[in-house]
Amino acid sequence: MTYTISLIRGDGIGPEITEAALKVLEATGLAIEWEEVLLGEEAKKKYDHPFPDHSLEILKKNRVALKGPLIVHKGSEPVMIKHGKEMMAHPSINSAIRRELDCFANVRPIKSFPGLPTRYPPIDIVILREVTEDLYSGLEHQVEDGVAQAIKLTTRKACERITHFAFQYAKKYGRKRVTLGHKANVLSLTDGLFLKTAKEIAKKYPEIQFDDLMIDALCFQLIRDPTAFDLLLLSNQYGDILSDLCAGLVGSLGLAPGGNFGEECSVFEASHGAAPDIAGKKIANPLALILSASLMLNYLGESDLSQKIENGVAQLLQERRVLTPDLEGSSTTDDVASELVRILSC
Ligand code: NAD
Repeated sequence: MTYTISLIRGDGIGPEITEAALKVLEATGLAIEWEEVLLGEEAKKKYDHPFPDHSLEILKKNRVALKGPLIVHKGSEPVMIKHGKEMMAHPSINSAIRRELDCFANVRPIKSFPGLPTRYPPIDIVILREVTEDLYSGLEHQVEDGVAQAIKLTTRKACERITHFAFQYAKKYGRKRVTLGHKANVLSLTDGLFLKTAKEIAKKYPEIQFDDLMIDALCFQLIRDPTAFDLLLLSNQYGDILSDLCAGLVGSLGLAPGGNFGEECSVFEASHGAAPDIAGKKIANPLALILSASLMLNYLGESDLSQKIENGVAQLLQERRVLTPDLEGSSTTDDVASELVRILSC
């Protein structure tokens, strides 16, 4: 069987780490036909729009995509997409992809790998982030000169959907506890709605423990003892922030993979961004995108190959011979991919 998968190479380090991930996927022997999709800055240059209609059509047709990070310049215009007679504003191209494909659940497993020196004991946390609403709804306005406003949108429907997803994910992957991070004492209507809805839905899954923590207290507890947590359920902005925080706990942003899931489509991408500071230097760590590709294989039902890649990454990190500078090595992005291919072929 040949899979047809959309490929977004991305900006900054995107093309370098994508090339590394493709090399590793090729070594698995799985037949994949890639359909390249141009989005963001490159699409704007070529088609005068960061998210052309035909790019969206390809993503919807293939349903599964592997994505490199896309640059979003500070202060850039929202991405406007036509829906019939209405225009929908998305705060960034990354948000536009998730929202246009209705990939509402962003899953980011954060795992320590043996052999890598970190400040913490072994961590195994999943961050589950709702990615269609909240402060990233594209509802930001200039009220007047010197006054701006962003709307934090929260709907019961989205809270229900993501909470069910959290418990179903917990059941499927043997997670024992779901912890909701919120600020319902201050944001009583928005975060309050998420908390109330999650508490109601939690009753339908008595086999999984549910609790909640104020987001500030959660940050404190995570730094104090991250091993105490299992699956963190978070709204869009809190999830965005805590993803990077937790990647820091395991040693590098270059080790934090992710996948965005909806009813129809899914998009697999690393947690990190386009890292323009190291783009073109051939030193970007490709492992987060490679681990995202492994999540993609698992989603496609190729669980043996997915596990093989994860085991290969674990071996590479344990051996510590071929690592990029973020992990205190001196190897290149391509060296890491080649070493992983060697390990996979043994
Ligand atoms: P970033 O994640 O790109 O980089 C933060 C720091 O981590 C930098 O020092 C960078 O060099 C390092 N880093 C990140 N990935 C690395 C890797 N694979 N290997 C080694 N080091 C790595 O965050 P940023 O600098 O805030 O954002 C840069 C751009 O990426 C911005 O335009 C931002 O909007 C965009 N971004 C895109 C996504 C996405 O596509 N989903 C996510 C986050 C940020």
